[in-house]
Formats: sequence, C-alpha cells, structure tokens
Amino acid sequence: MTVGNMENAVLFDAGKKGRGLKANRELSPAEVVFAEPSFSAVVFDSLASQVCHSCFRQQAKLHRCAQCKFAHYCNRTCQTACWEEHKQECAAIRKISPSCVKMLQEAKNESVIGLEIFQVVSSIHLAAQVLWRIHKDTGVVSDSQLIPVDHLEDHVSELPEEDRKQLETDVHSFLQYWSCGRKQLSTDYISKIFGIIKCNAFTLSDQRGLQAVGVGLFPNLCLVNHDCWPNCTVILNHGNQSALSSALHSQRRIELRALQKIPEGEELTVSYVDFLNLSDDRKKKLREQFLFDCTCEHCSRHIKDELMMAAAESGEKKPSADKVKEVTAFSKECLEKIEKSRVDGDYHEVVKLCRECLAKQENVLADTHLYKLRVLSVASEVLSYMKNFTEAADLTRRMVEGYMKLYHPNNAQLGMAFMRAGVTHWHAGQIELGHGFICKAYGILMITHGPNHSITRDLETIRTQTEMELKMFKQNEHEYHTIRDAALKSQPVAISSPAEKTKGSFRKH
Ligand SMILES: [Zn+2]
Ligand SMILES: [Zn+2]
Ligand SMILES: [Zn+2]
Repeated sequence: MTVGNMENAVLFDAGKKGRGLKANRELSPAEVVFAEPSFSAVVFDSLASQVCHSCFRQQAKLHRCAQCKFAHYCNRTCQTACWEEHKQECAAIRKISPSCVKMLQEAKNESVIGLEIFQVVSSIHLAAQVLWRIHKDTGVVSDSQLIPVDHLEDHVSELPEEDRKQLETDVHSFLQYWSCGRKQLSTDYISKIFGIIKCNAFTLSDQRGLQAVGVGLFPNLCLVNHDCWPNCTVILNHGNQSALSSALHSQRRIELRALQKIPEGEELTVSYVDFLNLSDDRKKKLREQFLFDCTCEHCSRHIKDELMMAAAESGEKKPSADKVKEVTAFSKECLEKIEKSRVDGDYHEVVKLCRECLAKQENVLADTHLYKLRVLSVASEVLSYMKNFTEAADLTRRMVEGYMKLYHPNNAQLGMAFMRAGVTHWHAGQIELGHGFICKAYGILMITHGPNHSITRDLETIRTQTEMELKMFKQNEHEYHTIRDAALKSQPVAISSPAEKTKGSFRKH
C-alpha cells in the first residue's frame, strides 16, 4: 500500500453524520484501507525534549535545535527532514518575548482542563503549524487528499458557552505567538482552525504505542466517522524505528486498517473512545469532546451495558441487589483513591487499595464489571512494575478473560492486554500460559498493527523466545518442574490460579 493511495475508500454523504467514507470494494481483515502522512503534527510541550519532533520516537539522547532550543531530534537526518515544517515555528519561538512565553504557558495550562485529549499539548503550536502549511502549500497537499484541511468540520457554532470562552482565550494567545510580523488573520478563521483541531486531531503515540506523545491532523482520516463498534482501526506507523539510521525511519503516518470483512459500499468507521465505558458515558464523552450524539447500534441498543455492570453469578449464593449497589459505590470511591495514589507514585498504597477492593468485589460483581476490570488493570500494572509477577499474572489473566467478553475480537486494546498478560506470565515463569497469551496477542496485532509495526516486531521476538522456552521445558520436564515449583513456592500464588491446570497438563506427558 503506497502512502496516500485512496483507491479503497470513497467520499459519500452519510446523512446526519455529515460526510463519510465508504469501502470502494470488499476489504478483508488486516487490510490497509489507506495510509496517510500527517498534514501537521506537534509533540506535546511537556515532552518537547524527550520525543523527536520529526519521527516522534521517544528516546534519551536527542539533539536540540541550536536556534530555538525547543525542537529536539534523533539526529541530523531527522532534523533535516523536518526543517521545512519547523522553519517558521523556529523563528516564532525565537522572536517571542519571555513575557509572551509565560502568557502562552498559562493559557495552555488552563486549556488543558477542557481539552482532555490533548493532555499538555500546545494546540497553539499545532494551529500555527496548520496555518503555515496552508499558506505554503494551500489546504490540499496531495492529489489524494479528499478535502482541504480548512473545510473540515469545526463545530464552533455549537460550542457550549464555557468552551467558547476558552476558545477566545486560545485565539488571543495564538495571536501573540503569530503576530511576530506575520500575515493578519481574522479571529473567525483562527477560531475555525482551533475548532477543527478540537474535533479532528488525532493523538500520536510513541514507537511502542504505549504513551501519547503528540497530536496531528490527518485530513482523510478526519472523514472517517465514529462507531463504538467500528469496522476499522487507526494506528500510527512510525516505520522502521529500530533501524539505526534514521534515514530508514519513515515519515510519521497513520494507517486505517480493516478489522473484519467489509463489503463494498459499507461505511468505514473507527472508534474515537474506548469501548469499555457504558453507552451513556461514551455518548457523553463524544458529545463533550467531538460535539456529536452517537447513534451507533451499540449505543442505541445499549449493547453490553448490562455485562459491564453485572452482578456475580458463580458465587455460592447470589448477592442481593443492595449488596451489589453497596460494592459498586465502594468500588467507585476506591478507584478514585487508587488513581490519586497512582498519580502520587505511592504504589504500595495502590496495591493495598486494589487488594481491598478486589476482595470486596469477589462473588458480588461479575468478571465483566467495569469497576472490577479497572482495578485488575491498575493492580496488575503496578504489581508488574514492583516485580511481583506471580500475583500480577493472575490479575492480567482475569482481566483479559473479562475483556474477551466485552471487546470486539480484533480490538487493538484487547491485543495489547493479551500482550501484557503474556509478558507477565512469562516473567512469572508460567511459560505455557504466557506463550498462549503472546500468540493470541500476535494474532490480533497482525490485524490491528500489521507485520511491519514495531510493536508487532517486538511481539514476534517475544513469541519466538517463549516458543523456544516452552519447547525446552517440555523436553526436560523434570528440570522444568523443579525450577517452576521452586519459583511458585517462593511466592504466594492465588489459589484459583490457572497455574494448577497448567501443571496438570504438563504431567500428562
Ligand atoms: Zn527522529
Ligand atoms: Zn528551532
Ligand atoms: Zn456509540
């Protein structure tokens, strides 16, 4: 698939949803519908010195732009590749007076609250990048771009009062940044660009796909409408990031990939929010952030809402409705405390709270209950970090079992969760389960990320390793059990751990 090729998708009128894209022919799972370079993109201000402003790779030693001291790059190659884009920004940053910088920073800090998606992004920097590019190349930068960037949906007229005020502040700050001897722009036009960014910008992750490091605008991608149960997924592909020479790093680009078979003429959709929220909460988020009301089938019919709030069924006795209510309220409160301790870096407290919460939830909330899954996710992550892999592994297993009942089978989040479960089991010495999870993760990531993505390649390496270890253990069973039993004895393991089952199947040989 060549970057920019739009043969597989065609623009159409999607009724109430406005414009949309539909499949121009039948598409198979894992197929790249299209790949698109960014029109503009910026690294979050808070990570400006940790992430390459050209290829968005996160690494320790970056070279600083000698002129503005703001932009950072892997090396000369990345810097040269980015110069056209950075040139104007570089001058603006240099010219800006210190008082102006302070004002911008203050304005940005305020805007963070309203713009969840941006974390600490400088929407001002992105707006300026977009406008510079429009002036230089116009709003259409290639033949395959289906729509000029300033014709994208902005929803400014529908903004609630509070957001409109914020927008005015942003525009005002922007003008300070922009005014250094530049072309005059109307505030309406600038507001429009901010509006476009607010409801169309795409968060960019680092090369591992684990941390959001920036934000960019991809005009064709903006035309793909939302569905909470989408038939496509979008990933950022940084190209061959492991290559030593950044000449081999590709330009940052997104890929729209089919998650399932899509018949010709069917609308292409992606999800702008995590599915693991109740339909009303997803709708609220979408309304606030993207200014539309979701009418997708999963929201309209509240599909899986019940599962996400279900009571336990497998316990000795069914919990009473009051008990379920009580534990749900307790969990909600506890999750807030957990989050606070996590942010404070008090991991011992996080683990203590999680254990307490999980104990209360036992036999009361179902394994698919959102609050249980959230606790399992945080607890397993923190326990892995603290190298308590045995307990973490058990929790990741319970987490993915719940996820499997809720997520689309090819959901990227599910794939990443399987990967986490696999790696944790591997670290815990539970090689058979670990390898199983790694294989499941690999199957999903081959569809959502494709074979050339750096995460898939990392996973392939792990898979080869766990496969080899598994073979080794199977060949020398006695030694395997000696090592493994010793490892299990040294750390208390949850009684219901599938480790018991694994042991059984190994002894059959
Ligand atoms: Zn780079
Ligand atoms: Zn510079
Ligand atoms: Zn929906």
